[in-house]
Amino acid sequence: MTFRASVLTLYPDMFPGPLGVSLAGRALEEDKWRLDVTNIRDFAADRHRTVDDTPAGGGAGMVLRCDVVAAALDSVADGRPVLAMTPRGKPLTQARVRTLAAGEGAIVLCGRFEGFDERLFEAREIEEVSIGDFILSGGELAAMVLLDACIRLQGGVMGAASSGEEESFEEGLLEYPHYTRPVEWEGRTIPEVLRSGDHAKIAAWRKARAIEDTRLRRPDLWERHGDAADGSPSGARRKTQD
Ligand code: SAH
Repeated sequence: MTFRASVLTLYPDMFPGPLGVSLAGRALEEDKWRLDVTNIRDFAADRHRTVDDTPAGGGAGMVLRCDVVAAALDSVADGRPVLAMTPRGKPLTQARVRTLAAGEGAIVLCGRFEGFDERLFEAREIEEVSIGDFILSGGELAAMVLLDACIRLQGGVMGAASSGEEESFEEGLLEYPHYTRPVEWEGRTIPEVLRSGDHAKIAAWRKARAIEDTRLRRPDLWERHGDAADGSPSGARRKTQD
């Protein structure tokens, strides 16, 4: 099954953009994933090809018309999940990416201006997705972020088949730090254990560093997922409660 991405945008020229180079680009050429891009403007009904209008109730900016966006969406809808990129959407996680990547693909709606007319979300089954607590000028870059994360998990896209599994977030932990040659640089050496050749010791060191880094850098992640890792905070709490 080939992952199929359909993107709905007012700026089709932005695609494939970064998804056309490196890993994702090569995979696209090799048909390991597919992309079609629909210009929302092609579904405007009037002579001026209008896609937006002023906000009801007044205020700044323009709002994407629900009738035009729905017509564009209906033209590609085929049962794949429909995702709209919105800052108020559910924050994207590696877990959601994994599930999406294992499916048939995704239909991705890119907003512009002030965003979409709310009735669109009432009338169609649409999952709103955010890529973080900041505002972009449009949904296209957010859609590329989402698709890139899905594409790299497709079979045969990444070099080593295993390289997706040890990454940050996959076990609810950040990844351990990396080193490569030279062994000594500006007086700093690669940790001894990584040069020992003792695979069990190396694995233990990496696990310990992953746990330590997660606790220090992302206490929120540690609180949520620490259970899965050794020495979890909730495990410790459970012990003291007993
Ligand atoms: N008025 C909106 C922001 C609109 S930004 C608000 O205050 O919430 C224009 C478009 O950019 C949005 O419709 C959305 O498609 C996209 N966008 C902006 N920030 C985003 C984010 N953090 N995640 C996903 N999409 C985003």
